[in-house]
Amino acid sequence: MENPVSPGTLYLVATPIGNLDDITHRAIKVLSGVDLVAAEDTRKTKILLDHYAISKPMLSYFSYNERQRTRQLIEKLLQGSSIALVSDAGTPGISDPAFHIVQSALDSGIPIVPIPGPSAFVSALIVSGLPTDRFVFEGFLPVKKGRKTKLEILRTEPRTIILYESPHRILKTLGEIQASFGDRQIVVARELTKKFEEIVRGRLSMVLPQLTGKPTRGEYVIVIEGYSPS
Ligand code: SAM
Repeated sequence: MENPVSPGTLYLVATPIGNLDDITHRAIKVLSGVDLVAAEDTRKTKILLDHYAISKPMLSYFSYNERQRTRQLIEKLLQGSSIALVSDAGTPGISDPAFHIVQSALDSGIPIVPIPGPSAFVSALIVSGLPTDRFVFEGFLPVKKGRKTKLEILRTEPRTIILYESPHRILKTLGEIQASFGDRQIVVARELTKKFEEIVRGRLSMVLPQLTGKPTRGEYVIVIEGYSPS
């Protein structure tokens, strides 16, 4: 297999959001070719690498050690190592660490190459049935401070709105969206690409009762119809 990797280069490699088959040939070539894989959770990434029979030295790179690790990784890149940065799932930098190392790499004149692939919000948006021509991705809502204000700002957002949410907050968040936005069209996409993939579409008054009382395990994307004065 030809090695598509250049020395001293940082690769931002998208990985599956559940189904291990959702990885590009190029991502596999890059992961096989780099000197080092920087991973948000090295145990999770090892499962992926093992699945593709790739054996690589790994270093953790997550939100709590981002700054210190960035310095270490930049040093290695400047010495000529090639590094692939991967997150637990999906695209690094999308509600996942990467921003810090990207900024430092740019400051140091290090080439950065994107290896595109899945991101949960794109998959949820395209199956939502809501307008995809213009949308805003907001990631996770603030947990406490600023949550109400954020919801109030989004209430009059005319574009389709996409949020990430954790299983233990999903019902609370949907309730709050209903309280501030009214009975909008909403799509709740759960466990995309996985065995228990489920996509619930409808007005909030229909969707909320469907989800209430059921176990809320798994990962969720919420897609909300944009505001229209009519
Ligand atoms: N970097 C990832 C991406 O590109 O989508 C997102 C990482 S973020 C820390 C994790 C959140 O993404 C989850 O809490 C959930 O909201 C969403 N997510 C990730 N995988 C998902 C899946 N298979 N189905 C639904 N939502 C998912």
